[in-house]
Amino acid sequence: GQTQYFRDTWAEIDLDALYQNVKTIRDGLPRETKLFAAVKANAYGHGDFQIAKEALKAGAHGLVVALLDEALVLRQKGIKAPILVLGLIRPADAGVAARHHISVPVVQLEWLKEAGRTMGAGVPPLKIHVKCDTGMGRIGLKHEEELKEIEQFIKQTDEFEFEGIFTHFSTADQASEKYYQGQLAAFKKFVSVLETVPKYVHAANSAGALCHNDSFFNAVRVGIAIYGLSASQERPPLNKGKQVFSLHSKIVHVKKIRPGECIGYGAAYQAEKEEWIATIPVGYADGWLRKLEGQSVIAGGERAEIVGRICMDQTMVRLPHYMPIGTQVTLIGGQGTGDFITVEEIAEKLDTINYEVICMINFRVPRFYK
Ligand code: PLP
Repeated sequence: GQTQYFRDTWAEIDLDALYQNVKTIRDGLPRETKLFAAVKANAYGHGDFQIAKEALKAGAHGLVVALLDEALVLRQKGIKAPILVLGLIRPADAGVAARHHISVPVVQLEWLKEAGRTMGAGVPPLKIHVKCDTGMGRIGLKHEEELKEIEQFIKQTDEFEFEGIFTHFSTADQASEKYYQGQLAAFKKFVSVLETVPKYVHAANSAGALCHNDSFFNAVRVGIAIYGLSASQERPPLNKGKQVFSLHSKIVHVKKIRPGECIGYGAAYQAEKEEWIATIPVGYADGWLRKLEGQSVIAGGERAEIVGRICMDQTMVRLPHYMPIGTQVTLIGGQGTGDFITVEEIAEKLDTINYEVICMINFRVPRFYK
């Protein structure tokens, strides 16, 4: 990719923090429990290859992604570790997955039959993880009979290897245990009808792995927590780790305006007194959404409020006093001064969850790794 950038807006990805977060979570699990790091969606906006490498170095056993395309990118970049695709792939693409030693989910016998017909000769067996729907209602088979049929079918064919069985919790982050316990019991029931338990049995996401000691089986799939973000609002205290993502820019223009002067589209902000207004080169086309009007940033170590409408590529902030062009402005994270903007602070302003915030800052913003 591009190696030199000419814009003063960037995301900093703290790989040491990621390493520590993965290691801390790993060390908190039983020794035999394997950790799969969730690096889908370009590692939750952090950059898939760099995060994958660092997570594996820190003790992750494998990776999970959402799409076959995401898995292939990692293979092309030389990642050799186990990779499981979480989303369903087309039966016609089974051969591609098999050739690249990428594991895929299966929720229907029909899918296997069709995949077997299209895979062709000379490919290694496709590793499959049967996905059971125990209450998420998204993808997964719902009846033990279907699981047994799949197990029998795989035993009679050479095209597939029954590598794993898994499910996904929908409420592991919530204070109430009831729904979680129901899913856990349903999953155990699925596992119990198998003649042979496969290599990987997994259910837990971050909230499962961190809040429920009975969720581990022999592997966990951890995303949000490796990025140092909160896996649950309701089940503290959790070791939250250190935030890996930060977003920075620089003042590119600064001016004093008089009382009554307006800023931005719609002349929606009007100064009440003399004010110093700085412009920073970041906008909604970067994923810095218009709804963040009124949010504060850290400019030269001090809080400053975003005023006027956020534009496609630029944002204006009201400074507490004059600051020169080139002053660093931090939109997410800190400047080493003690003040810190968490991903959760931005999520709250946007009425959403921390996951969405890190996924929304798109790759027009270069990522720098340190
Ligand atoms: N497993 C599955 C099936 C998922 O869809 C996800 C992400 O949504 C994860 C694991 C990781 O979840 P988290 O980021 O909450 O740890």
